[in-house]
Parts: sequence; structure tokens; C-alpha cells
Amino acid sequence: MSTRRDLLRSLLSLGITSTLSNAWAGSAHATQTKGDQGHVVVIGAGLAGLVAAYELQQWGWRVTVLEARDRLGGRVVTLRQPFAQGQHAEGGGEYIDDVQVHPQMHHYVQRFSLGLEPVNRRPEQGVYYLKGQRLPLSHQALAETFGAQTWREDDRFWAELETLAQGLEDLDHPEAMTNAAALDQVVLSRWIDTLAQDPLARVLTEQYLRGEYDDPEWLSLLFLIQQAALYDQVPDQRVEMYRIQGGNDRLPAAIAAALVNPVQLNTPVTAIRQTPLGVVVSHEQGVVTADYAVVATPLPPLRSVQFEPALSPVLQRAIAELNYGSHVKVISQFNQRLWQTKQGLSGLTITDLPIGFVSEATSSQPGRAGILTAYVSGQYGRQLAAMPPTDRAETVLAQLEQVYPGLQAQVSTVTDMVWPQDPWVGGSYSAYGPGQLTEFWPAFQQPYGRLLFAGEHTDRYIGYMEGAVRSGQRVASWLGSRTHAL
Ligand SMILES: Cc1cc2nc3c(=O)[nH]c(=O)nc-3n(C[C@H](O)[C@H](O)[C@H](O)COP(=O)(O)OP(=O)(O)OC[C@H]3O[C@@H](n4cnc5c(N)ncnc54)[C@H](O)[C@@H]3O)c2cc1C
Repeated sequence: MSTRRDLLRSLLSLGITSTLSNAWAGSAHATQTKGDQGHVVVIGAGLAGLVAAYELQQWGWRVTVLEARDRLGGRVVTLRQPFAQGQHAEGGGEYIDDVQVHPQMHHYVQRFSLGLEPVNRRPEQGVYYLKGQRLPLSHQALAETFGAQTWREDDRFWAELETLAQGLEDLDHPEAMTNAAALDQVVLSRWIDTLAQDPLARVLTEQYLRGEYDDPEWLSLLFLIQQAALYDQVPDQRVEMYRIQGGNDRLPAAIAAALVNPVQLNTPVTAIRQTPLGVVVSHEQGVVTADYAVVATPLPPLRSVQFEPALSPVLQRAIAELNYGSHVKVISQFNQRLWQTKQGLSGLTITDLPIGFVSEATSSQPGRAGILTAYVSGQYGRQLAAMPPTDRAETVLAQLEQVYPGLQAQVSTVTDMVWPQDPWVGGSYSAYGPGQLTEFWPAFQQPYGRLLFAGEHTDRYIGYMEGAVRSGQRVASWLGSRTHAL
């Protein structure tokens, strides 16, 4: 029987995962050229753009970074207001996996002498809240409360996925390529329908997919296989292990501080023109000319950027259509950590309620108060996004109260990050829809004239900080081996 390792091998040969695997292998700084290689303009000061800028600088390029917002970090944003007792929470990218899974994030954390704090993921301190009942976060509790079939059905889901991947194993065989393209056309929810899962197992499957990516009706089956392959044989204890001590925003701040030219904030790019000699990038305050441009923004904001000459039809379609998740974080501070003090719990919650997934932001932070983050996604994220902020807070608090009675009376402040409404992202992170992996992916992996595309959506670690960082390394590595004379 095929294992998840086989899934990975299949996808490696498909090319969806391979393009980036060696991107940084040759990026040891010792081999890099110093001197004036030319000038690169980097658009976007998220992790992808900042890492690209930092690595290009190491290669000897002059770099100008243009950022639309009034802050660095893009989807890495640490919220310190409005919280009391000096506590903070992550509004976007939060968890870093084990060093073997997210090695490049660990590399930069170390490079800039930042610390990591562990996340409490002890399952015995977490809870399921399903069908109105709270139970320990374990297979055994699930089986005892709802019957063994719930867990068995989850296993069947992954086993069926593996069987499908077997058809992708030998991609020298034309049939395998045809299979991959065919799997990419399959709407994930339709495939789940064919499994006829037990109803509670189906709810759990959907909540998982929604929480990680988006509602299954928006996703491609091949995309899920690719994502599953990435985490092939990675034990649960190795994922979501860390946050950066003092806040994840310390990493983008540290990278930016190492740049010779400060990032230009409040500078939204409006047009990118390629000429035979270079690029002319227009922004609201003026123009920057350079030899190359690294486009390290999410795709939706590029809909209002004018490209001359026009981008290829595939890139245009990707910008117009690539599917993004709809995650909303509702982040509440409580005067005391009732879940911990009264109930010995960590706050980690998986539920069939619309709030979906809850975790404590402050497990490694001092203070009597504590912060819980509800990570609401898919259709439920979109519903919350459409509400006024007070209704959003009330909706989430009422659901938290169901799981942890007495909590609502302890709330001191609530804030939120509504990513689908953020004009500089237009969603949370990419979650490839039917047909999009085979159509759009290859277009991001090569330069388009003097434009190079970076960002989480261009790396196999789609939707991760690791993916953003790796994509920055990839474009820097590509340019690093060239000079502006090209
Ligand atoms: C709610 C949420 C939870 C997440 N959780 C995790 C997690 O637990 N672990 C994990 O690893 N990852 C997580 N991620 C994903 C991670 O945050 C992203 O993959 C990563 O930060 C993306 O970095 P990026 O550089 O590709 O894009 P961004 O961070 O979005 O950076 C792009 C930059 O481009 C700028 N920009 C856009 N348009 C223009 C323009 N026209 N001109 C100039 N600048 C422009 C933007 O303002 C932004 O600063 C999460 C993301 C979200 C939203």
C-alpha cells in the first residue's frame, strides 16, 4: 500500500514541489558575488520581499523595496494593542514548525538572533466541542463518545487520498500526467461526497480543510494531495511548535534593519513597465528604474497594477482568479485564564461551531490575563467578515461561552483581523482551486521578462511563512547568478 511518502515522491516528479527544492542549496553566502551587480526593485515588504531583498544585497545587488502599507511584514503582524499587561497576539502568520519542516524560517530566526517560544499543543489539555458536548482532544474520547467509526472514517479519507496519488507515481508515463491534470479538475467537495463518510466524520473533515485552506467546494483535489504530500510522515508533534519570542513581527523588522536602503513605506506600486534595458516601476510618489523587479505581493492587489507590456494570458488569469482563503482572527483578552485556572486546559479547541479552531496566544507570556484566538475560516470567515465588528465579537464570544462556560464575563477586550477585507491581500492565503495548480503554478516558476514572482503562492509551502521565505530565496538565487548586463 502506498504511503504518504509515495505521495511526496509523486508530486516531486510532477514538478509542483521540485522547482524550489534546490533554490537555496547554492545560496551559501560564501559562494556569492560581491560588487555592483545592478539594481533590483522589490515590490512588497512581507517575508518574501524582505528575504529576496536581503539575499540580493548579499549577492551584491542594489535593492529598493517599495511597500504599500505603513508597516513591514505584510501578513506577519503582531498585535500589541489593545491588550493589557504587555501581552500580544499574532494577527496573521503564527506558527512555525519543527526545524526539519520549516528549516528556512529557523535559519533566519537564528541568523537574526531571535528566540523561539514553544506552543502548548499537549492534546490532553485540548478539547473537542462537538454536537454540544465537550470532550478531550483524543481519538479515544471521540470513539467513546460518538463511536469508533468517526475516527476510522478520518483514516479512510487519508487512505483514499493515498490511493489516488498512486496514479501519479511514474510521471514519465503520459498517463500519470493526464491523471494529475484530471485530479486537478476535481472539486474536492465532490470527491468527499463519493466517500459517503459518517456525518460527524464529514463535519470534522470539512472543518479541518476549511481551517487549513478554504471550504472544500473551492479547492482542487490535486492541491490537497500536494499539501498532504508536503506533510508526509511529519508527526503531529512537529507542526505548529513555535512562535517568535516577543512577536513574529520581530523577524521582518530584523531583516529590514539589515538592508542598506530602508524600505519605502506608504508607497503602493501602480504600474510596472518593462523596457529593453530594465523596468520602470511607478508608485504614488514617483518612479523607480531598475534592472529587474521582484513582484512579492499577493495576487489580488495586482489587479489594480498596470503592466506594460501586458502579462501573459496565464499570469493575467492567475491574478484575476487564484483562490484565496477567507480567514478571520477574532482575538479576545480575558481578565483571567479561566480555561487554565479552573479547568486545567490549554484553550486549544476543535469544534463543529463556526469558530472552528481556538488557541491561546499567551501560553508563554506572563500575566494573569490571557488571550484566545478564534481562527474562523471559509464560509464562516466570510460571514464574520460581513458583520460589523461588535457583532463579530459577540458572535465569537457567545460560541466561546458554550465551550468554556463563565468565560464571557471575564472578557476585557476583543479585536480582529479580517483578512478577506485587507486591500493589500484580498484574502488570507492562497488555496488553489480546481484546475489552478496545473495551469498557474508553472507560470510563477520562471521570470516573465525582467519580472520575478515571489510570495507564499509561488512556493510549495503554499500558505506558510516558510513558503514566503523560500520564494524570496528562490528569486534572489536566480538573480544572484546573473548580472544586470543580461
Ligand atoms: C490568518 C492567517 C494565519 C496564518 N497562519 C500561519 C501560520 O500559523 N504559520 C505560517 O507559517 N503561516 C501562516 N500564515 C501565512 C503567512 O502569514 C504567509 O504565507 C506569509 O506571511 C506571506 O508572506 P508574503 O511575503 O508572501 O506576503 P505578504 O506578507 O502579504 O507580503 C506582501 C506585501 O506586499 C504589499 N503590497 C501589496 N500590494 C502592493 C503594491 N501594489 N505596492 C507595494 N506593496 C504592495 C503588502 O502590503 C505586503 O506587505 C497565515 C496567514 C494568515 C492571513
